Amino acid sequence: MSTVPIKAGTDVIEPVTAASLVRREVVSLPAYDPGADTDEVAALSGVARVVKLSNNESPFGASPAVAEAVRLRVDDSLSRYPDPTGKRLAEAIGKSLAVPAGRIVLGNGSENILELLCQAVLDPGDLVTTQAPGFSLHEIFPRMMGARVEKVPVTAEFGFDAIAWRDALAAGPKLVFLANPCNPTGAMLGAGELGRVVAGTPKSALLVLDEAYCEFARPNPDYPDGLEVLRGQDRPWIVLRTFSKAYGLAGVRVGYGIASDAALVQALDRVRTPYNVNQLAQDAAIAALGDHAHLAETVRRTGLEIARVTKLLRGAGLRVVPSSANFLFIETDHRSDWVAEALHRAGIVVKAWREPGYENFIRASLSTPEDNDLFVLCLTEICAKGAR
Ligand SMILES: *Cc1c(COP(=O)(O)O)cnc(C)c1O
Repeated sequence: MSTVPIKAGTDVIEPVTAASLVRREVVSLPAYDPGADTDEVAALSGVARVVKLSNNESPFGASPAVAEAVRLRVDDSLSRYPDPTGKRLAEAIGKSLAVPAGRIVLGNGSENILELLCQAVLDPGDLVTTQAPGFSLHEIFPRMMGARVEKVPVTAEFGFDAIAWRDALAAGPKLVFLANPCNPTGAMLGAGELGRVVAGTPKSALLVLDEAYCEFARPNPDYPDGLEVLRGQDRPWIVLRTFSKAYGLAGVRVGYGIASDAALVQALDRVRTPYNVNQLAQDAAIAALGDHAHLAETVRRTGLEIARVTKLLRGAGLRVVPSSANFLFIETDHRSDWVAEALHRAGIVVKAWREPGYENFIRASLSTPEDNDLFVLCLTEICAKGAR
């Protein structure tokens, strides 16, 4: 047996600490802001029931068919691994959209698919284009991979800036993330605007259309169905949707993507953890997908509240962006942190916006009419007090 002599080095060896092992991209990564903790808000306010308007959840919950499906399945789902391909759910989704199941990818929430797309597609230094203000994970996941992120600002009226987007797309991104309706503004891109993005995105780029709130926008005849727009396009694309918002299944974590071709789904299959969607979640989503009446009722009631609360807040002198989703982006005369803190003391949780230029905005998802009335009352009182 020969041994390799160890060379006595003169270099000083730095002790390895956990922090020193972390990649440079990760050290500088902004943290995702999930909003204030409801237990802390309960303790601070002393209210019996916190009104949570910070995460765009559905106050109307999931279809009753979901609890039934989960009950039926729970005994054999706890000890067995889930179906790694999610084939029954992928088939149900594919059938409802007239897309082959092989072009459907499932995720532990659609945010999981945003992450998988970045892992599969992005090299360090690649350019990603998205919108500001925007969904923070459209920036965090690309930066995690070492990509550069260019955020195209919305217009002064919160609309799509066609010129700025044309220029940004001409810079040659590898990945384009665009939400329609947009989060946090709730604004909707029309067919013409979406068409410009599709036409302007280089064919060498992957176009990701994030339609987390599409169900709420669909009653508007001017809302373009991203899948119908992209279906015939000869270019790489993926449309992302979720069961977290209109279907009321945020706690279960299921989202899906409809991809331009099966090869993209297969690439994502290689980077995802094999059992990324648990069996109860798969069964819950199948049940939710089948209850059209519950979805329609959620969308109808949400739309009524969006219109009613927008009018009330505007009547009180606040600026509210027209919303096609289940939340409102509201400008006050005060720092959003201060407003959110005052609302928290009243037992209402909203999200204070912190992106540059939007530090006076809060985002509030709507709840039941009673909760929304309390929100309007508290917010208008807080703003009036602050103005004195
Ligand atoms: C809520 C949201 C998602 C992700 O939701 P999941 O719960 O992960 O499915 C994705 N995109 C946008 C813009 C969202 O607001």
